[in-house]
Amino acid sequence: MSILANRLSRIKPSATLAVTAKAKELKAVGKDIIGLGAGEPDFDTPDFIKNAAKMALDNGQTKYTNVDGTPELKDAIIAKFQRDNGLEYSRDEITVGTGGKQVLYNALMATLNPGDEVVIPAPYWVSYPDMVLLAEGEPVIVDCPAEAGFKMTGEQLEAAITPKTKWVILNTPSNPTGAGYTKDDMKALTDVLVKHPHVWVLTDDMYEHLVYGDFTFCTVAEVEPALKDRTLTVNGVSKSYSMTGWRIGYAGGPKELIKAMGKIQGQSTSNPSSVSQAAAVEALNGDQSFMKAWIEAFAGRRDLVVDMLNQCDGIECPNPEGAFYVYPSCAGCIGKTTPDGKVIETDEDFVSYLLEAEGLACVHGEAFGLSPHFRISYATSEEALKAACERIQKACASLSGQARAVA
Ligand code: GLU
Repeated sequence: MSILANRLSRIKPSATLAVTAKAKELKAVGKDIIGLGAGEPDFDTPDFIKNAAKMALDNGQTKYTNVDGTPELKDAIIAKFQRDNGLEYSRDEITVGTGGKQVLYNALMATLNPGDEVVIPAPYWVSYPDMVLLAEGEPVIVDCPAEAGFKMTGEQLEAAITPKTKWVILNTPSNPTGAGYTKDDMKALTDVLVKHPHVWVLTDDMYEHLVYGDFTFCTVAEVEPALKDRTLTVNGVSKSYSMTGWRIGYAGGPKELIKAMGKIQGQSTSNPSSVSQAAAVEALNGDQSFMKAWIEAFAGRRDLVVDMLNQCDGIECPNPEGAFYVYPSCAGCIGKTTPDGKVIETDEDFVSYLLEAEGLACVHGEAFGLSPHFRISYATSEEALKAACERIQKACASLSGQARAVA
């Protein structure tokens, strides 16, 4: 008999982490690989944040802290929510975990009973449905194709809600598409949610600061204050401060939920790293002006990638509002044949071809719930991005035969 629990058969390994690991492995054996798989900025963590961590070490902040965050970090988070989102929280409405990922996991584990439904617009970040499944809930996937800007409409949300719905998960700007909900888009959703008091909203705002052009970020409880007492506003320092490895995510929400999430964390991992928490205090309280140059760099990279991908035969790439991802369609390559004689049947075949033929690592769309697409993370140098897009152009031009119409 297997040692493994039944729940394990409900989930898959994380595709984003798998691609990142694969790219690292191939690089380590000397292959010429350009990794566009990881959702991780290439910038170094700013010095003022690193210095705060060094000081924390020197000051002996190396012991257990409160399970769900130090008072100093909670205060910095409270100030951040006030400053950026006009949201008021008290310390007992704030929780801090080991990355946004743990915060989301705690929330789902603390609230889902078997069979409870969670509405998830697709394309979604790979881990949402699997976390729901681990917590014995049922993901209810709402298809949001490129023609709809990868966004869920009020009508779609209304149709997806049942008496069993516990949560809807929103993520703007989105991983993997970069699509951002305008205030009007968001209002269309909050108007529906106001009518369904049994539905809670989990909003993953991890890419809040990474928006381009004249797009303005908004979050659920800010757009519809009446929803605040059933909204969990999740955020973190990983992407905006280039602190992926430090593992600090946080959320603001109603006391009862925050307390329950702390209970789960207290019986699993206890506090997030004390040193990382001290660094996060500085990240949130410190001078935010460094971000302007990062945002400009990301916007320039986005334009470069969108432009070059749209020159590829068989690829169509929408221009997203934020995050550091593009989510092009490779429908025009499905049915074509590679120089090795393999027919590209799926987006997974397509990304495998890019890796094998051109040493390019990116993530296939099926992992995010919408095919045939693929995700490119453009959080890397312009030079690498130019080379990567040239390789994709070459790979596409080397395909032969006709594309097959895909539904
Ligand atoms: N969130 C990032 C990504 O989508 C990091 C990897 C992960 O945790 O999924 O690539």
